[in-house]
Amino acid sequence: MEKLKILQVSSEAAPYVKSGGLGDVVGSLPGALKDLDHDVRCVLPEYNQIPLKYRSRLEHICHFRTDVVWRDEYVGVNRTVKDGVPHYFIDNKEKFYRDSLYDSYDRHVQFTFFVRAVLEMLPRLDFKPDIIHCHDWQTGILPLLLHDNYRQFPFYSDIKTVYTIHNLKYQGVFGPEIIEDTLGVDYEHWQSGRIRHQGNVNFMKAGINYADKITTVSPTYAREIRTSDLGEGLDYALRMRGDDLEGIINGISYSEFNPALDDEIFASYDIDNFQGKEENRRGLLRDVGLPVDCEGPIMGFVGRLVEQKGIELFQGIGDDIVDLGFNLVFLGSGRSDYEDYLRYLAGRYPDSVAAEIKYDFTLARRIYAGSDFFLMPSLFEPCGLGQMIAMRYGTVPIVRETGGLKDTVDNYDGEDGTGFTFADYSPESLLSALESAAELAENREELRELQRSVMNEDFSWQRSARKYEELYKQLRE
Ligand code: ADP
Repeated sequence: MEKLKILQVSSEAAPYVKSGGLGDVVGSLPGALKDLDHDVRCVLPEYNQIPLKYRSRLEHICHFRTDVVWRDEYVGVNRTVKDGVPHYFIDNKEKFYRDSLYDSYDRHVQFTFFVRAVLEMLPRLDFKPDIIHCHDWQTGILPLLLHDNYRQFPFYSDIKTVYTIHNLKYQGVFGPEIIEDTLGVDYEHWQSGRIRHQGNVNFMKAGINYADKITTVSPTYAREIRTSDLGEGLDYALRMRGDDLEGIINGISYSEFNPALDDEIFASYDIDNFQGKEENRRGLLRDVGLPVDCEGPIMGFVGRLVEQKGIELFQGIGDDIVDLGFNLVFLGSGRSDYEDYLRYLAGRYPDSVAAEIKYDFTLARRIYAGSDFFLMPSLFEPCGLGQMIAMRYGTVPIVRETGGLKDTVDNYDGEDGTGFTFADYSPESLLSALESAAELAENREELRELQRSVMNEDFSWQRSARKYEELYKQLRE
């Protein structure tokens, strides 16, 4: 079998730096490709947000200077190895020691610098990838710069690119002045419309138009983003590249997410030894200040409190959900009106609703483990990891049929199925799914049976990594 040389280029990868699903995916995919025996490497910006325990252990490999048009910049390349995969970190403190990952006023310069540094480090490492795999808007201009600035040099001439859209909503949109000031590419790319969208330069659109193949993180989302409903204005560009666009569902790390070995939860358990789930229920209730002896199923929610996650659907039906007998545990932060609503609901029902407005890695695990149901009523969801993690922890997902949620959860009909689903984006439809879940929960035995059976689902990375492997191979043919 042909051994491929693959470079993953991303702004996030767990455990180093993560703000959401992107970090989880790039944290796991390289290791899964390595298990298929490829030479895979990963490169990230060296953010100050990376915990010191990792940053302090990096080995310095080389340094050089690069130009971002008129800016002459230092590039340091540092390295560590994780799961047999070399991880490179691009060091320039002025660029990456910032208060936040993506909120800087000059993020177009940050990521143009990053992409140039990545491309120019390759000959210095003597590593010529067959495939450069880019992720999300932050690296969307890599295929463009490769095409415009580097292809003419023999080293770069036959490198192929894959571009993965993790969330089409975040596109990297900047004024046209950055073409001359920052990107330094030919004006033709703007005039042809290939990087232009509504009078601005759009990094996501550059990735879509200049990569050899495009993927997104579920088959359903790959179909949805070609429509004006969920295309975020780029549906036409995506339809034009339809033959090169594929949906590959994400996996989750089965070593990281494992109720039999998880140190963060109150008691370990597995499919044959399920008693630990009960202890996790009590521990969770204690943690979030709900009565430990309360009755009724626990429904957990973990996620960013943004429009995408469907918070507005339960804004109007909080009372009805509590009336159904659920205990609700929310964990997340984001829009202040959503945060306020959850705090209000917790204040109104102190014995059955808890609202933890924060980012908390440990509590998230405890919610996955201690809940009976896990709620994701998303407006859209490219893939969604929460529902897969929940199933891994024997927790039944309640989801809206969109994107990856549709691809990973089948409605339970009393015999088959892995969760409760609803199609319409309306409080009534959500409520009706919740009524079915509440009805099931009245029969404790049946609920436990379903919880154990969802643990049989396979969301490991192996299957997805094979799909990426096939795609990379197509590009070599
Ligand atoms: P997205 O990438 O849109 O945020 P995903 O479901 O793909 O959504 O991934 C979200 C990941 O981030 C999951 O691993 C989830 O558990 C985690 N997460 C989200 N919000 C929080 C939070 N407030 N505390 C802890 N973990 C969180």
